[in-house]
Amino acid sequence: MKYIMALDQGTTSCRTIIFDASGQAVSSAQKEFGQIYPKPGWVEHDPMAIWSTQIGVAQEAMLKAGLSYRDIAAIGVTNQRETTVAWDRKTGEPVCNAIVWQCRRTSDYADKLAARGMAGFFRERTGLTIDAYFSATKIKWILDNIPGARALALHGDLAFGTVETWLIWKMTKGRLHISDYSNASRTMLFNIHRLEWDEEILRELDIPAGMLPAPVPSSCEFGATDPDVFGGPIPICGAAGDQQAALFGHACFDAGEAKNTYGTGCFMLMNTGGAPVDSVSGLLTTIAWGAGGKVDYALEGSVFVAGAAIQWLRDEMRLIDDSAESEAIAASVADTCGVYLVPAFVGLGAPYWDQRARGTITGITRGAGRKHIVRAALEAIAYQTHDLISAMERDSGISIKSLKVDGGASVNGFLMQFQSDITGVTVRRPACVETTALGAAYLAGLAAGYWPDMQAIARNWRLDAEFSPDMDEGCRRGLLDGWKEAVAAASGSAAGRQGAR
Ligand code: ADP
Repeated sequence: MKYIMALDQGTTSCRTIIFDASGQAVSSAQKEFGQIYPKPGWVEHDPMAIWSTQIGVAQEAMLKAGLSYRDIAAIGVTNQRETTVAWDRKTGEPVCNAIVWQCRRTSDYADKLAARGMAGFFRERTGLTIDAYFSATKIKWILDNIPGARALALHGDLAFGTVETWLIWKMTKGRLHISDYSNASRTMLFNIHRLEWDEEILRELDIPAGMLPAPVPSSCEFGATDPDVFGGPIPICGAAGDQQAALFGHACFDAGEAKNTYGTGCFMLMNTGGAPVDSVSGLLTTIAWGAGGKVDYALEGSVFVAGAAIQWLRDEMRLIDDSAESEAIAASVADTCGVYLVPAFVGLGAPYWDQRARGTITGITRGAGRKHIVRAALEAIAYQTHDLISAMERDSGISIKSLKVDGGASVNGFLMQFQSDITGVTVRRPACVETTALGAAYLAGLAAGYWPDMQAIARNWRLDAEFSPDMDEGCRRGLLDGWKEAVAAASGSAAGRQGAR
């Protein structure tokens, strides 16, 4: 009996989960590593700490279950996306700390690119909106600011990688310098149509092609770990960025299948099938994965403030003692009594894109109270997700088939039912909420022949709870109209108000 080991390298911690053929976790280990904040707005990680912490938890998970390298059929890697590592190929030493996706040090440069009218050029090739968030401007910053980095690159001795690239390079002692399509598609250097690094973008940013990893499918026999790492070789057969891995872990294999993660914010991805969909609503077009001999694309959108609105009720407004309590309070009233809460604390994202919007509560009458406001905060999470789904449907012309959910706030039954009611879509919550690690395991196990095909993986998906739409259309329309008015009230600009209509 063999197992699949998923390495889940996140923004604050490294985890390893070992899965069996039914998709059950048989062992896991997790450890946090340090966050480095050298200046306001800058965020770094030590790549060596990422490496040692990740391998440490992998060995711990194997030890806990009494497993040796022979018991592991394959390794899959999933990771925080966009975070940029650069190292000397000869010594294996990073030339500086990893620049984390959250780091804003290159935002002026990104703004300049956008001001030069290059947004269309980048979007057409990479599917992305120009932003410091993606790897491209971070790589350029390293080449321009770390002494000796550019000379090293011009000699062919500097290697760039997102975190899966770095871990795979380390696990193979430098034999493999590869990036899976899903991670490559978050660099803002990757041509998502041709599946290769875009020469014109590289020229524009003055990034030598020689430092880039070879792009490969997400599910594929990459090669084996060096025997020193786990006592013997283990095949590495899968890699994907965390959100794409979660989409795969939910078995959203067909166009129109979507997943939403309800955490601090929401992260939603919808599979759009074999063709990239250009978004007119400001959603990102991204590669979901290369698996089973084909490439799937996805539309991606996020809600900035979701579960964080519930934290705000708890910590700032002190309307609740803990997040879980919000469910019973919301369910104890029939409706919000006309109250809407728009948690635009940091502006509004897709499809509104209004940086100047601010949090707003509308519709307060004498009868409105604490319970109604708590309910309105939960409903707002669902309304924002509804707006993303509508934008995805509009942009792609694909109607959403199902919404699979995970994340801390997905345990809230009231929220899930309201989500289903307001979108008219069945919401399905799986028994295994470790969908990110599971997705990496599935990608690896598929290439290793551990699971015969994607149907076998889809059959593994176990339901915890299903929420079906149960609201009459008139009521649904009325509530959505009220939400649109509330968003318009929250919008700081005339353009925002226009968008809300
Ligand atoms: P992240 O990974 O973004 O830190 P999690 O997936 O751990 O987030 O989810 C935590 C968020 O979910 C918090 O913002 C919290 O307020 C919210 N949350 C947790 N439990 C509930 C609940 N039962 N109802 C509503 N929100 C909840």
